[in-house]
Amino acid sequence: MSLDVTDLLHKRVRDIPDYPTPGVVFKDITPLLADPEGFSHVIRALVDRCAPTEIDLVVGLEARGFILGSPAALALGAGFVPIRKAGKLPARVLQETYDLEYGTATVEMHTDAVAPGSRVLIVDDVLATGGTARAAVELVRRAGGTVVGLSVLLELSFLNGRERLSDVVLHTLATV
Ligand code: AMP
Repeated sequence: MSLDVTDLLHKRVRDIPDYPTPGVVFKDITPLLADPEGFSHVIRALVDRCAPTEIDLVVGLEARGFILGSPAALALGAGFVPIRKAGKLPARVLQETYDLEYGTATVEMHTDAVAPGSRVLIVDDVLATGGTARAAVELVRRAGGTVVGLSVLLELSFLNGRERLSDVVLHTLATV
């Protein structure tokens, strides 16, 4: 396929203005997911950007990180681990709480999900302020894992999320 992945993302991710709150432009990846050629092209690009790094586990962030992280894990020959919003995981969890513009958010990962020494790639759709990704990095490290990369489809550069992730290798397929 000759289509450039950045062009593909600009074509297949649509802007939804004022969602979920006024002033926010939501990046909706559902048109991309509904396009089998585009979806597989993006997963292939995501996986290729990590090569030749050895990866044991892909950690996906709820919810779109699950959709992207699962096929990426299979393509990498890695396992998949979910990080979820508070109260959703059934077994014992590690927790991280981080600041939002108004209030806080908490994410959780099973205590035994990442074996010490595991090499972990974190996957999500959008990097905005970086708070969610930062919390994920902390959870993986507290479990004893090594974060070998963070892959996102889209980076909202005006929110400077990468400044909070200066100690992580960041792979971004498109920047807006
Ligand atoms: P943040 O913690 O601010 O980097 O936000 C990242 C998380 O929120 C990711 O899980 C994204 O799916 C979601 N998110 C934040 N901003 C947007 C946006 N403008 N469009 C789509 N998803 C977003």
